[in-house]
Amino acid sequence: MSWDFETEPEFQKQLDWMEKFVREEVEPLDYILESPYDVRDAKRNKLVRPLQAIVRKQKLWACHLEPELGGQGYGQVKLALMNEILGRSRFAPTVFGCQAPDTGNAEILAKYGTLEQKKKYLEPLLANEIVSCFSMTEPQGGADPKVFTTRADLRGDNWVLNGEKWFSSNARWASFLIVMAVSDPDATPYQRQSAFVVPMDAPGVSIKRNVGVGQEPEGAGAHAYVSYKDVQIPKDHLLGPRGSGFAVAQTRLGGGRIHHAMRTIGQVRRAFDLMCERALSRTTQGSILADKQMVQEKIADSWVDIDKFKDYLKVRKDIAAVKAQMPKVFHDVAVRALQLHGSLGVTPEMPFVDQVMESFVMGLADGPTEVHKITLARQILREYKATKGLFPSGHIPALREAAIKKYGDLIEREVIAQ
Ligand SMILES: Cc1cc2nc3c(=O)[nH]c(=O)nc-3n(C[C@H](O)[C@H](O)[C@H](O)COP(=O)(O)OP(=O)(O)OC[C@H]3O[C@@H](n4cnc5c(N)ncnc54)[C@H](O)[C@@H]3O)c2cc1C
Repeated sequence: MSWDFETEPEFQKQLDWMEKFVREEVEPLDYILESPYDVRDAKRNKLVRPLQAIVRKQKLWACHLEPELGGQGYGQVKLALMNEILGRSRFAPTVFGCQAPDTGNAEILAKYGTLEQKKKYLEPLLANEIVSCFSMTEPQGGADPKVFTTRADLRGDNWVLNGEKWFSSNARWASFLIVMAVSDPDATPYQRQSAFVVPMDAPGVSIKRNVGVGQEPEGAGAHAYVSYKDVQIPKDHLLGPRGSGFAVAQTRLGGGRIHHAMRTIGQVRRAFDLMCERALSRTTQGSILADKQMVQEKIADSWVDIDKFKDYLKVRKDIAAVKAQMPKVFHDVAVRALQLHGSLGVTPEMPFVDQVMESFVMGLADGPTEVHKITLARQILREYKATKGLFPSGHIPALREAAIKKYGDLIEREVIAQ
């Protein structure tokens, strides 16, 4: 894949180092360890910690962060190129200190947390000594946060939380959760909720069950159905101004979505590389797959899709466009790669079934595709105006009439002159 602008040679060297390091040292972890988020897993720590130390030494740790938080303050273009490499491996974001949702949660704490919270939660989070959870979606609805009912009531010096949250990823390994709750039920819809930091061990916080995706066995999933029952947290655990939960969540989700998109490119490329390799390796009915025109079409379509997707990434401000396009490109390339591998493609011995499932996850996590398309359409329509007349501005009879008015005399004179 090519970018139509130059990467600085010094940074290209770092990217080359990353590519080799991820492929040779990090990717093998994907096949032998359980969760990158389980910071209490001794086996995981034994393998992950030394790799994280190497990344720090290379000055590539948590590059999305500003230098005062221990990062490099890299802009989105550098991050895009890095995330494309990291996206190939389940463990790579953790080894490089930029795994979701901890990245977004750290942003919130850095912006709104008290000094004490920064010491207690942000510092160990940035060092990956602990992990965190963002607990917003509720069982009765996620795409419309106005229907959330989890309550936060201020009683004396404490906030008291009551309610249930659904699909709170990584709660089972988290030391704290960032929870959205209704603190001001009488305010206008977007000023009703606030964000809170809730320690996982606060009395009243419990996991009803851990839900998995796809074929994950019951209870083995990473997405918790959480109950908050009379959970008391100190007054200063409110994050950001009271009633500003939506604004707090939005800041966090914007960055998170674009990083998801960047990492997805890594996955899409992995499927694409495997597809091309297989096309050149497999012979059927007298020739390799790569010689069949319908196989060539799959490869060509995938290339075009990936390239179009990169165009979206270049318009980084249009997060909604990227988020809407990403699941489809991922799905289509993974399905073509699966198909090209025949029976092997549908087994768990290749990554394609998981990738297809992951493409559906991408169409839901951080908001469904439809909602992003609505946002995108609204943004686009802001640049247009309704026509005043009865017919559209492209109505040909009116355009012809205007053209005759402008040039009609000239044509008639020329015709007469001939
Ligand atoms: C793997 C995974 C991880 C997640 N992690 C987290 C997490 O850590 N924390 C958290 O809080 N949440 C998390 N979520 C939840 C995610 O944010 C929600 O699934 C998402 O917001 C959609 O909400 P819902 O599932 O309740 O679907 P609903 O709100 O019930 O929507 C269902 C469907 O209705 C359609 N739809 C909805 N609104 C519109 C509309 N306006 N116009 C047209 N069609 C529409 C879409 O097809 C949508 O998929 C995660 C989800 C997944 C799949």
